[in-house]
Amino acid sequence: MIILILAATLLALPSTAAPPPAALRTRNVIVVMTDGLRWQEVFQGADAAMMNAEHGAVGNPEALKKQFWRETPVERRQALMPFLWSTIARQGQIFGNRELGSDAFVTNGLNFSYPGYSETLCGFADPAVDSNDKIPNRNVTVFEWLHRQPAFRGKVAAFGAWDVFPFIFNAPRAGFPVNAGIEPFTVPPVSRELALMNRLKKEAGIWDTEALDTFTFHTALGYLKQHKPRLMYLSLGETDEWAHAGKYGDYLRAAKLVDSYLQELWQTLQSMGRYRGKTTLVFLPDHGRGGAPVEWKSHGQKVPESKYIWMAFMGPDTAGLGERSRVAPVTQSQIAATVAALLGQDYPADVANAGKPITDVLRH
Ligand SMILES: [Zn+2]
Repeated sequence: MIILILAATLLALPSTAAPPPAALRTRNVIVVMTDGLRWQEVFQGADAAMMNAEHGAVGNPEALKKQFWRETPVERRQALMPFLWSTIARQGQIFGNRELGSDAFVTNGLNFSYPGYSETLCGFADPAVDSNDKIPNRNVTVFEWLHRQPAFRGKVAAFGAWDVFPFIFNAPRAGFPVNAGIEPFTVPPVSRELALMNRLKKEAGIWDTEALDTFTFHTALGYLKQHKPRLMYLSLGETDEWAHAGKYGDYLRAAKLVDSYLQELWQTLQSMGRYRGKTTLVFLPDHGRGGAPVEWKSHGQKVPESKYIWMAFMGPDTAGLGERSRVAPVTQSQIAATVAALLGQDYPADVANAGKPITDVLRH
């Protein structure tokens, strides 16, 4: 009898009482970004124009070609990013191959890092975000927006190789861990492994503002295993640093390393009950770069083609449509709403100027 009354009560609830948590299976989202990796390498692999001393500062072109040069673009991209092409591009979707009629781009008009990360995380380009200076973001990221909800409180974390991330996320206001640059990560428990990483990332510093990717990745992976966040952000920076340095071989090796991190991350997720079959991976850069053989080192407002990026999605709610072709353009400003939508939340309903979710990745 009690059950009947309960059932009747539930049926009598107005339909507006419970927003349909959609029929989505995603319960966790991991967003991974790698700074300034060009769509050209992602879709076509290594470019011969820079595999030399003149345009890529390559000391041993033969060794580099052995590692990354193949006859066709499809073979070359497979050699560069084997996990992306063998797994993500089969089980998920990747946008941005301009040669196949799939454009992905940033809308901030500046084509450099802080504006790109802010556009990605907040869902819109703010004209006031116009430098890489360490200014606390006046805008709320979708991470902070979700973290304000009880279901996500204490279940959000962000890791960035670049030391500006605490400002991009406005960490003091956001209230979740944001570890970046060579700052030691001190959220307990600090294992011996983590303590050593904290020390090494400081000692092995090459750049003032950026940790080597290996330390940022392993710090994030350790946190994921230990604390099992529902929403995690990981940003890697070597692809951009080596490109600015003009070192094409190191740029390619950094891209391959990121691909191997994605594989390790995905395998870890699939080995954990909390994540298996319930987690969507989102992967993109903050901006593109100029063309071969010289402008590839650079990006920004004066390099218009550096607005073009790529983006990949894989998870239980994303149909395995693979490499997309002849589709409507997608923009970086749609990522925030897409992340929220995967978690059953309507972000643009609250943030009116945010881009709309990319619905193609939300239907199985
Ligand atoms: Zn850059």
